[in-house]
Order: sequence, then C-alpha cells, then structure tokens
Amino acid sequence: MEESTENVSRKPSAIRVSDPRTASTACRCLEAGPRAPDIDTPRYIGVDETEGRFADVTLERCTRCECLWLRYQVEYEAFAKSGRWAAAPIAEDAATAMTPELAAGYFDSAAWYIYGGSYWGHAGKRGRGPLRWGLVG
Ligand SMILES: [Zn+2]
Repeated sequence: MEESTENVSRKPSAIRVSDPRTASTACRCLEAGPRAPDIDTPRYIGVDETEGRFADVTLERCTRCECLWLRYQVEYEAFAKSGRWAAAPIAEDAATAMTPELAAGYFDSAAWYIYGGSYWGHAGKRGRGPLRWGLVG
C-alpha cells in the first residue's frame, strides 16, 4: 500500500511516467539532486569512517523519475560551514554492491554528480571529478 502524504489535489488524469529514461530529461532531481518530498525513505548503507569523516552513506530513490541515487554526507559538528554532500545516480546492481568505504570513490569516477552544502556555499550544483571531504586540504 502506498499512501501519499500530499495534501494537494492530484490531477486525476495525469499520466504517470514510469520510464526513467523518458522522465530523466525533465526531472528536477537531475539538476538539484534528490530531495524531499520527492524521495522514498532512504536505504541506509552505513558510515564511512575513512579519515575520521563518519560520512553517512545512503541510497535515495526519486519518486518522480524513479532514479536511484547514492548520497554521501559529511558534517563536522564542531566546525561551521563544514557540511557537504554529494549525490550521483547509481544502477541497482552497483547499489547492491556498494559499501560505505567505496562510496566516496564512486563520485570521483562518476560521469557527474550533484554536490552542495555550506562548505561549498551552495545548495546543489552539478559537478564532476574528485571531491574534497576532509576538514583541511
Ligand atoms: Zn527524479
């Protein structure tokens, strides 16, 4: 049973797009990353303790286009403007094999990703290439 929590009236005749390849050209998650209320309950992969990051690694599925995202999030609580995250689309089989320790490297080799947070000074942009997760350097 899937019950929407939305209060807004639904368009009764709206065609539900279920093909991710069709929807992906239009879905806002591809420009801003997956975000509420367009995501299912995240699947928790674990914590990446590499270099003391204690990064939260999760899988989030966009409920609009059904794209699956790998999300990596770091927050150094004692340090202002240290918070940052990245999210990249990931195939189901790759997601099944994903571990917390492998997650950061996935972004380095991804074709592109969305990244944001106070450390980078924006709420989400497209990028590619290696990301910095440490407090310094
Ligand atoms: Zn989407």
